[in-house]
Amino acid sequence: MDVFSLRPPDVTRRDFLKIASASLALLGLNQVLSPQVVKALEASLGKIAVIWLEGQDCAGCTESFLNSLEPLATSILLDSISLRYHETLMAASGYQAEEARVKTIEEGGYLLVIEGSIPLADDGLYCTIGGKTFKDIVRETASRAAAIIPVGACASFGGIPRSGPTDAVGYLFRGTQRHDYFDDVTGGKPVINLPTCPVHPERLVAVIVHYLTFGTVPPLDKFHRPLAFYSSNQHENCERHGNFNAGRFMVDWGDPRQRDWCLYLKGCRGPMAYQDCWKRLWNNRTSYCIKANTPCVGCSEPEFYESFSPIYERQFDVELPVVGRVEIDKVMATVAGATAVGIGADMLINRIKERKKGEAVQHEEEKES
Ligand code: SF4
Repeated sequence: MDVFSLRPPDVTRRDFLKIASASLALLGLNQVLSPQVVKALEASLGKIAVIWLEGQDCAGCTESFLNSLEPLATSILLDSISLRYHETLMAASGYQAEEARVKTIEEGGYLLVIEGSIPLADDGLYCTIGGKTFKDIVRETASRAAAIIPVGACASFGGIPRSGPTDAVGYLFRGTQRHDYFDDVTGGKPVINLPTCPVHPERLVAVIVHYLTFGTVPPLDKFHRPLAFYSSNQHENCERHGNFNAGRFMVDWGDPRQRDWCLYLKGCRGPMAYQDCWKRLWNNRTSYCIKANTPCVGCSEPEFYESFSPIYERQFDVELPVVGRVEIDKVMATVAGATAVGIGADMLINRIKERKKGEAVQHEEEKES
């Protein structure tokens, strides 16, 4: 049973192609809608089955996805796919709901979206649905999926629950560490991580449209994130970067003169964060964390939340890869002049970025060889 089968479609052919074209453009593929591709896309309308599982989550990714105001970004999913199972959205419950999941598994070839982390401690008993632990549900559902899309920081890397007592992991990663817990059911299937807390609806729509169009997934980095969305550095592209270089750091939230100053001393993790929030923005391209005067918490990264906490607090000293431990107060005290402070810190941050880029390139080379 398709849980949305009674819902009249909102998307016309024209809407559908418009959204598909916009989604592919997000991936840098705006020239691909040839007549053949359009035909293939239209043929897929309403056919690709999707199972959306929720484990240790707050349903924030579901909300983010549904709150999308971008013309019909939600509708393209609800009308162009066959959403067979989604605990928060489906009208069915109990046995009827589980039946929809099991029947879809029997058919095989569906997309599996996972929201929330997967607890492994104590045999996974912390998250049990319909008498089954979530880890077993994930294992069973992944076994016959065509592709697996963990959405949000929790399903990608363990997220906030990773700091708790349940040994919460993402589908492939426990923080930065790759685990092999689901390798036997994953096989060679593509796994596309879409972290941030919550998932950005456009990134999810674009990945699904790419799959509908080509039957493949876009190029990924070593943490299985699409390069199109997770290869640019927040700090490098930040609208406050000029203030960082000039040594204008926000220290007093109440001082109107400091309103647009750099948030690094307020705990900003922008230098460690690779995403395109700075240009994609959120809530129908209205704003995003830094624009709203909130430090970036680095929720696109596998280190979030455990290794980045406490968030929103000034880091008196930080562990920088390659450079080592740096005491911010000492840097500020010994480097003469605020501008020099900015430049000194930027040099350190550039070293991090170089290393991260190097790792991504290495990963791509490994995949090609
Ligand atoms: Fe922007 Fe944060 Fe970098 Fe400051 S530290 S320039 S607020 S990303």
